[in-house]
Amino acid sequence: MGKIVRALSEDGGVLCSAINSTDIVREAARVHGASPVAAAALGRMTTAASIMGGMLKYEGDTLTLRINGGGPCGTLTAVADYRGNVKCCVGNAAASVPQKADGSLDVAGVIGNDGTLTVVKDMGLKEPYCGQIPLQSGNIADDITAYYTISEQLPTVVSLGTVFGEGAKIEAAGGFMVQIVPPISDKAVKVLEENMQNMESVNKMLENGLDPEEIALKALAGLGGDILDSWEAQYYCDCSRERTKGILMSLGKAEIERLAKEQEKTEVCCHFCNKKYVFSADELLKMLKE
Ligand SMILES: [Zn+2]
Repeated sequence: MGKIVRALSEDGGVLCSAINSTDIVREAARVHGASPVAAAALGRMTTAASIMGGMLKYEGDTLTLRINGGGPCGTLTAVADYRGNVKCCVGNAAASVPQKADGSLDVAGVIGNDGTLTVVKDMGLKEPYCGQIPLQSGNIADDITAYYTISEQLPTVVSLGTVFGEGAKIEAAGGFMVQIVPPISDKAVKVLEENMQNMESVNKMLENGLDPEEIALKALAGLGGDILDSWEAQYYCDCSRERTKGILMSLGKAEIERLAKEQEKTEVCCHFCNKKYVFSADELLKMLKE
């Protein structure tokens, strides 16, 4: 289980969400059989989407984070619910690029930086909210920071990390997001800038065994931060046979008739959890009649 913690400054003007996403990222890497650098990319995607989803207000609200940077791993998508339960998929999970000169994984290299970051918030309204910005760096954290600043005019800092051990085993993963709520106080901006400069990287804090409470309170140091709430989140796919039927139906009558005619069995694989749903030709034709 992952754990999300939210902390608020004393004056209520600064909110920090921090997460321990180790189990979520391990599961994302396992489901997709991801290469180490793709696992690091999926790790940042799921960690960020989980935090962002956890900021939605109502049950049933969902948040989709999509990055298409033109790099070897293709498009990355993560979808989270309002509790930060998250699932993800990637175009090419086996994609690999050379490590950076310092020996670290080149996440921005596998994602690419020629493309867009898209955030879709479906809050049960007629039209979902959709915001899009050109990618800044492809390292995900900076891109989400830019998204909030440009698209939602909310001064935000996002920091994400995944720690790999021997044999590319995922030892720990996590991150945090700090947001200044309008009206923006100059004092809060100044203190936060100092905190961000003084804080160690997320990877370092994870290596040192800090939990999300400690990370959130470090981010709000000097602002009288207090823990607001905390809860568990996990890698979770909500696909089902019923829902898969709906997706098949959206292909249209002619296409379904073609599938039923050409093959005994039609197999549909969920991109998020790899679960397979098999429909016989008879079932497909029956579905059309229904
Ligand atoms: Zn699924």
